[in-house]
Amino acid sequence: MSNRLLFLGPPGAGKGTQAQLLAAERDLLHLSTGELLRAEVEAGTELGAEAQAVMARGELVSDALVLAIVRDRLISHDGGWLLDGFPRNLAQAEALSELLEELHQPIECVVLLQLDDGILLQRLLSRGRDDDNEAVISNRLEVYREQTAPLIAFYRQLGLIREVEAEGSVETVAKRVVDGLG
Ligand code: ADP
Repeated sequence: MSNRLLFLGPPGAGKGTQAQLLAAERDLLHLSTGELLRAEVEAGTELGAEAQAVMARGELVSDALVLAIVRDRLISHDGGWLLDGFPRNLAQAEALSELLEELHQPIECVVLLQLDDGILLQRLLSRGRDDDNEAVISNRLEVYREQTAPLIAFYRQLGLIREVEAEGSVETVAKRVVDGLG
């Protein structure tokens, strides 16, 4: 059973929802960099102030900043984990590999949630988060295609990718995720 997982997929594919369900079921630490950054913004920290404008444009917060967030939490955690929304570009993926090597905790599985652009857009528009308006969404989809999608090949080469079709109800997709993990 995989206890060190990474969730990959475009914004709107349902990573957060599925990651939360699986983490609860398997008692894993759920690390969502997006959620952690939003919490910093809300708490009005210096880090949050730095991230806020970048997030509002749908661009990526600096690698150093998100890496520090993830590093802190992984180092102080004993047990399995599930990363959601990180890494988001090749530099982050390489930094994560180094960190995990240091911790002797290699990734066991990368769940790739796949969904058509049309459905992604519909889901994001109906969600209504601050950064869910049409202009920002199209920017986030572009950032995903250009910077995050190359991670699919990166992890495929390592034999870690499990593809999951993300269309359908939360329960249907959750079942596919579990079946995909074997
Ligand atoms: P979504 O997957 O729907 O875009 P997230 O909650 O994962 O939502 O991310 C929201 C925003 O937080 C991103 O658009 C980006 O600005 C920032 N963010 C989250 N994770 C990272 C990361 N690993 N690196 C850089 N920026 C990030």
